[in-house]
Amino acid sequence: METSINFNEKKGFICDMDGVIYHGNRILPGVAEFIQWLHDEDKEYLFLTNNSGYTPRELNQKLARMGLDVPEEHFYTSALATAAFLREQAPGCSVFAIGEAGLLNALYDAGITMNDVNPDYVVVGEGRSYSLDTLTKATNLVMHGAKLIGANSDVSGPIENGIAPACRALIAPIEMATGKQAYFCGKPNPLMMRTGLKKLNCHSGEAVMVGDRMDTDVISGLESGMSTVLVLSGVSTRETLKTYAYRPSVVLDGVGDIAAMARAEKP
Ligand SMILES: [Mg+2]
Repeated sequence: METSINFNEKKGFICDMDGVIYHGNRILPGVAEFIQWLHDEDKEYLFLTNNSGYTPRELNQKLARMGLDVPEEHFYTSALATAAFLREQAPGCSVFAIGEAGLLNALYDAGITMNDVNPDYVVVGEGRSYSLDTLTKATNLVMHGAKLIGANSDVSGPIENGIAPACRALIAPIEMATGKQAYFCGKPNPLMMRTGLKKLNCHSGEAVMVGDRMDTDVISGLESGMSTVLVLSGVSTRETLKTYAYRPSVVLDGVGDIAAMARAEKP
């Protein structure tokens, strides 16, 4: 396995966002330089998030508020991965969806229709439309044969003053009530990386996955054949690394190091 990466030779970069690009509403050091380098070198890139609630346009605006100009087509969410999965599996299918604009727009854009009578799938993301009523509806639709899909398998996500239950936790009551297991489309499902690579028009060997988590970012990059960078600007420390049976190709303090290393090594 490689122990360093020649970033100049790589064509595509898939980057996690939270803990890599920003923390909450705070941009991390070196990010502007990294994005500038991607543009200067004509690299293909995607910013990835398991959060299914935001549309690419909303993510574009979130980064714009931090002073970063990243066009909409460079964002890839678990909602888009879910929609791509369903379009591939069952073109023109119908769903009962619990989630926010990010999920609903992605489904509509993939030619999938909403159906609360006899849908092919029940699709769950995080969001405010979650209630006992929607849960009960979803449970009965699954009992009548709808297949159960989760946008991602995160159990919780950070909010101000604590954590909020995320998709995996929100779908659990439907699984318990019906005895059916959900299928999850976001990270660490390597499917999300493969569809991301397809969007970038890249082979896995030409691409790098950058993230701050071993159990989602690094493993999904690794399992889809990409080089992997663990950045220490988020949840992981050098100590975290030792508790896993696999390792990233390289460990860096933050994404700014990618630009600095690549510029220094450029022939
Ligand atoms: Mg992260």
